[in-house]
Amino acid sequence: MDTEANRNYKRVVVKIGSSSLTHEKTGSLNFNKMEHLVRALCDVRNQGIDVCLVSSGAIAVGRDAIGLKERPEHISAKQACAAVGQAKLMMTYQKLFGEYNQVAGQILLTKNTMINPVSRDNAKNTFEELFRMGILPVVNENDTVSTYEMQFGDNDTLSALVASLIQADLLILLSDIDGLCTDDPHRNPDAVVIHEVEQIDEQIYEMAKDSTGSEVGTGGMATKLTAAKIATLSGADMIIANGKDVGVIQQIFEGNITGTRFHANANPNFQLANFIMETIG
Ligand code: GLU
Repeated sequence: MDTEANRNYKRVVVKIGSSSLTHEKTGSLNFNKMEHLVRALCDVRNQGIDVCLVSSGAIAVGRDAIGLKERPEHISAKQACAAVGQAKLMMTYQKLFGEYNQVAGQILLTKNTMINPVSRDNAKNTFEELFRMGILPVVNENDTVSTYEMQFGDNDTLSALVASLIQADLLILLSDIDGLCTDDPHRNPDAVVIHEVEQIDEQIYEMAKDSTGSEVGTGGMATKLTAAKIATLSGADMIIANGKDVGVIQQIFEGNITGTRFHANANPNFQLANFIMETIG
């Protein structure tokens, strides 16, 4: 499709969800996939582009390590899983990034970090310092301390807030869907992916209504549109792409976008903290 797509991006946030990182049958980590993801990200770094990874998987990995058969329902059980899983997840990322000579750092955020101007500035400065040092930040929500009142709940939104905070010019959501479709592709074989979205209007919200979310992760199409709003208003393009093959990352930088791209539409009056309070609650 569209080859004016290659926009010379300088700073990218890539978000990958639990369902893309784990095996569907067992819920265990898909090492092959993680390895490909890390290699693709290091290759983007090697092109002189700042890269930030927002990775889910803390709860899924913890649940697998603890041996819980069912998905935890209670917040404390989820938090216990995250306490185990986040450490294991980072251990794997550190090892894989190390193989490509890339140093990675961990940043765990809560809603309070984003709302409170002092913590927000501190987080922003940390990101800047990491980029200056050539370190690749790996971000997740701080699930072990995020109570219901202050949690983002899904990493689609979190990754858009990060993109806004660090003034990225591109956010890539790697998902288990191909992009925003005209209808639910599971029910309607004629549904097609919309490749370019210039304006997030009523028609786009209508189309998003019928799309499906996944069993493992938490973000459906509604959260992806919220993410798109945050990213585009902050001046970043946002691309939803199918993460089943992480080679899609390289394709994007070659200007070959197969998913949906929402065009940046920067609004100088966009205030991150206000948006969080008004929209995400
Ligand atoms: N922060 C959660 C985790 O790492 C996942 C949230 C999401 O799936 O979007 O397990």
